[in-house]
Amino acid sequence: MENPEKGKRFFDEARETMDWEERESDLSIRFLKTFEHAFRHSKAYREIFDSAGIELPDIKDLEDLEKLPVLSMDDLVERQKRDVPFGGFETVDHDRIRRIYVNPGLIWQPGEWEFLDTSWAEALCGLGFNSGDRILNTFNYHMWPIAFMLDASVKMIGATVIPTGVGNTLMQVKIMQTLKVNGFMGTPSFIMTLIQRAEGMGLDLKKDLSFETALVGAEMLSESLRSRIEDKLKMTVRQVYGTAFLGCIGYECMHMTGLHVPDNVIVEVVDPNTGKQVQPGTTGEIVVTTFNTTYPMIRMATGDLSMLTRESCECGRTGPMLKKIFGRIDQATKVRGTFVHPWQADEVLSRYPEVFKYQVVITREDDKDVMTFVVELVEETDRSELIRGRIERDIKDILTVKGAVQIVPRGTIPDLHKKIEDKRTWE
Ligand SMILES: [Zn+2]
Repeated sequence: MENPEKGKRFFDEARETMDWEERESDLSIRFLKTFEHAFRHSKAYREIFDSAGIELPDIKDLEDLEKLPVLSMDDLVERQKRDVPFGGFETVDHDRIRRIYVNPGLIWQPGEWEFLDTSWAEALCGLGFNSGDRILNTFNYHMWPIAFMLDASVKMIGATVIPTGVGNTLMQVKIMQTLKVNGFMGTPSFIMTLIQRAEGMGLDLKKDLSFETALVGAEMLSESLRSRIEDKLKMTVRQVYGTAFLGCIGYECMHMTGLHVPDNVIVEVVDPNTGKQVQPGTTGEIVVTTFNTTYPMIRMATGDLSMLTRESCECGRTGPMLKKIFGRIDQATKVRGTFVHPWQADEVLSRYPEVFKYQVVITREDDKDVMTFVVELVEETDRSELIRGRIERDIKDILTVKGAVQIVPRGTIPDLHKKIEDKRTWE
């Protein structure tokens, strides 16, 4: 499982190990180019910059990035509704768009004619994939862009992709076995589903399967789940963090020091109220700028909370790193007058390696707020009553508001769930 040589792999070593000053001036050049391109060719950006009173010469280097307004997903959606389909953020003629991706909520996204984003490829190398690997891509190929982006990135690193998508678990296990597949890309839940399926078929996971490396994302990965998967399959499991519009924003290398920010994005951590950058080591909202020449995203807010660090990593990468993602900014909910933040809920549940997945559901009963932690356990246990009682006690201690715990069978909570689901109605 621990092969130190694998962790030394780079997609572009010279770029990933640049010293800080060189990196800043390089990013500065690329940022100015993107800004100018967006200013000249995107209707939406032109309007946004105009109304903020920003002229082309006002932006001279990377430090001026902070002068530009932060773009929220709501702004983007609003503009897409007014100016169907892309909202005027596109910088190319529509006949230069190769695909139209459809994100949940009918949010349109143009796919560039030539996929040049190296952020996922950098992540693939960084987390341990090699050229020649055979990698199962179990992300959904319908509508959303993620599976396609990863598919193109596997090609960039000289490996082979098997585009299986989700579902068809029996066939997927057979594919894994027959083709001696050694890489996996998908959600942590889905790799667990495949493991259970293979066990159910009577396979010896370590002998009959050849998995070595997994890229997982789109869901919380607890350390207990990570080590369970790693032990069962004798493989390395690493997380990526990214979004459909921004590509890869962070990835874990072999050493798991934090999330390495890929070379071709600018990541800021800002005060969500002012849009100004906070000091390294301070928590704030992640705001990202990409260099995409078809649909550039300039200071797009992710709604995710983290902190930047300049810690060095044993893998030799010198770029910025994000500490773990602490939760969503826009999901803080008031329960009986007290704010409940997703990261507080994470703090409670991270103490329990038995927990596989959870969701907080807020309802109204007899004119009172009721908070329920719906919890799936990694496996059935006769200790579930005990665990339930302990979690309830910790909720009261950490969140300072009472909450009940309901343990449900695996598979009850949907894959792409909100951490806090507010079901209250106010008639
Ligand atoms: Zn590293």
